[in-house]
Amino acid sequence: MKTVSSLLDSHWYQRYQNISKLNIRSSIYDVTNQCNLRCKGCFFFSSGEDKAAREETDPEKWAAFVDSEKQRGVNLAILIGGEPTLCLDRVAAFYARMPTYCATNGLIKVPRDRFADMMVGISLWGDEDDEKRLRGKDTFRISSKNYEGDPYTYYLYTITPNQVGRTERIIKKIRDVGLKVHMQLLSNDEGVDGFYWRDGELADLRAEMDEMLDAYPDTVISSKYYHKVITTGKMLDRTFGWAECPSVTEPMDTRNHQPRRLIRFIRWASDLETMHRCCTSATRDCSTCKDGAAHMSWIMVNKRAHMRSTEDLQNWIEVYEMFAKLYQFIPW
Ligand code: SF4
Repeated sequence: MKTVSSLLDSHWYQRYQNISKLNIRSSIYDVTNQCNLRCKGCFFFSSGEDKAAREETDPEKWAAFVDSEKQRGVNLAILIGGEPTLCLDRVAAFYARMPTYCATNGLIKVPRDRFADMMVGISLWGDEDDEKRLRGKDTFRISSKNYEGDPYTYYLYTITPNQVGRTERIIKKIRDVGLKVHMQLLSNDEGVDGFYWRDGELADLRAEMDEMLDAYPDTVISSKYYHKVITTGKMLDRTFGWAECPSVTEPMDTRNHQPRRLIRFIRWASDLETMHRCCTSATRDCSTCKDGAAHMSWIMVNKRAHMRSTEDLQNWIEVYEMFAKLYQFIPW
């Protein structure tokens, strides 16, 4: 029988041990239904999730809720929205209690005197032209001033079909303001014209993502295996989609065949009672879903399947390390 130690030399075994003890249990929280942008293609608004629940506004209820989430075994809170920085007292309820990651468009600066080491992920959808077209604003100009040199911040660069062949300029800009970047792909939930993936484009993009990782290893937080899985939708001999997705809210998971999944994962709406189906939205077509976190988690929950060879297990370790770096369970 193949075991982890039989597949890895001492260097890789040490890397494996560093991550295998982390035991990350994440859940996702809609902090608010409000946003100070309205991006074309944002699943939260295009799916009507902003109207799924009335916001809870009592800070004490948020604090009690986070305590109960901790009791449930959650040890990583992923805050999304709407725009979480519009409700910093709610963000504080999480940050005081557990490791917290805040997704933001970066227009409002998280005050570091209150949130010294909270991980911040700034959404970015391309260069100035694409940002203006999809989001109505060149957000990088503002967010890069707010977060320049911040050691607990990275850009979550959502690559659109329009960005293929143009990613290097963005990555250099991010490097030059002293921040990191992680790449994911647009799913085009609102069917915006000109932003569909065309045949062959994803293969080109995979090569480009690999090149960026090789050229800017201190800036890009990624792995080539992640690039392969997210651009092909394939992992080993399996295809991503509803039957395989690990990021489904546990009490809403009606699938009979029980794929490997994130244990105790729930995505909560901002009333602290309503649950959403998954980490994106129930209106998204799973067969075209390109969600980066769901693909990453798909790999991570399937360790045993990657124990068929040394190379497969090393790929699995690199993706787990990438995830752990993005949420600062291990250093960059
Ligand atoms: S839309 Fe994406 S994240 Fe949601 S269940 Fe489908 S595959 Fe998973």
